[in-house]
Amino acid sequence: MSLFGSSGVRGVVNKDFTPELAAKIGMAVGSHNVCAAVGMDSRTSGPMIHAAVSSGLLSAGCDVFDAGLVTTPTLAELARTAGCGVMVTASHNPPEYIGIKLLNPDGSGFGLNQSSAIEKIIESRAFRLAPWDEVGIRRAFPDAADTHACRIQWAVGESKLKVVVDCANGPAFTITPIVLQRMGCKVITINSNPDGHFPGRPPEPVDENLTDLKNAVVSMKADLGIAHDGDADRMVAIDDKGMFLGGDQLLALFAKRFAKKKLVVTVDTSIAIDDYVDAKVIRTRVGDVFVSEEVKKSKASFGGEPSGTFIFPDQTYCPDGILAAARLVEIATEKKLSELRTKIPRYPILRGAVSYNPKFKAAILATLDKAMRSLKCDELLTLDGYRLQFEDGWALVRPSGTEPKIRLVAEARTEKRAANIMSSMDNVVKRSCR
Ligand code: MG
Repeated sequence: MSLFGSSGVRGVVNKDFTPELAAKIGMAVGSHNVCAAVGMDSRTSGPMIHAAVSSGLLSAGCDVFDAGLVTTPTLAELARTAGCGVMVTASHNPPEYIGIKLLNPDGSGFGLNQSSAIEKIIESRAFRLAPWDEVGIRRAFPDAADTHACRIQWAVGESKLKVVVDCANGPAFTITPIVLQRMGCKVITINSNPDGHFPGRPPEPVDENLTDLKNAVVSMKADLGIAHDGDADRMVAIDDKGMFLGGDQLLALFAKRFAKKKLVVTVDTSIAIDDYVDAKVIRTRVGDVFVSEEVKKSKASFGGEPSGTFIFPDQTYCPDGILAAARLVEIATEKKLSELRTKIPRYPILRGAVSYNPKFKAAILATLDKAMRSLKCDELLTLDGYRLQFEDGWALVRPSGTEPKIRLVAEARTEKRAANIMSSMDNVVKRSCR
């Protein structure tokens, strides 16, 4: 059984992910922890799964620090005191999904060994069931966001910029606008009502979902726009000209300022970062858990992913979209983002995905493996999925850890070649997924 993916457990509500499963995860985590911080994002199924996982924790004699509706990085802040964190979230997935992400007290997500230990407890039903007088105690922590906001404030300077924040109808409204206001910014919010139907836009902060934010930045003559994903561990931006600043460009900007000798990125990151910063670039598997692990191991001073995940180890090993927003505001206070954007090398990089029927996952992945290994390239890396190096570009074909999708990335020095690599990869993957 492989319950946990690279970002915890995720699935469709009441189909793959039931309250029963949440209670079992709670019982398993509670069997080996005396206390856990529990929080949730704004999904319709949040309260249901929050109650179930809390019930499991309490039954095992584990105390629950209930943070309520918070962002994942805020929950990570409370996990410092609690000893571990249980976040009820499906991050950027569509609204029908829910999930649970487990966090260490340093903010990093549970690694593969920790996750498989939890899986084993669930499989063997080796739960500790507490006697009546040792059942866990629930305490409410309504100020978790404020504690988190204070920590970020100490780590950043002041700014008078005008910023539009798109909260994605998620819990970001509890913290990002407040942090930026306290820095001295004039803040305008959109999608700041928590709503699990995501009426404003889909929760994934990609270019095509951010039209409203771009329009708001331009029409209100703001200095920048910030957009989060559903649980605000991620962040992307819009510059003062209304142009999208994606993860690849933000990685380059942050790395220039915060990476001293070494930085860690994932295998799907653009080679633009290698050309823009002097620090050594280490590449690792896709997933913030692997970035955190590598940042710790290599003592790097910054890490991240092109999905908009940024890890600043001077503060936390949890990707923190709010801290990243505050630090981007600091950068934009010194120089306009539109000016900085033009200095970052930009190679045509294309990203796509092919969905498959999860019922036939094993067979599809086996066919894909054969197909990928038979392709001609200069070098094939199988650190995570298949990274093919060509003379004039590269491609990454990688099964998603959280959704029944094969993700594709192609980058080259010319548009034509990138499109060419993408279409040949797309063909191979589509044939394997049939
Ligand atoms: Mg997220």
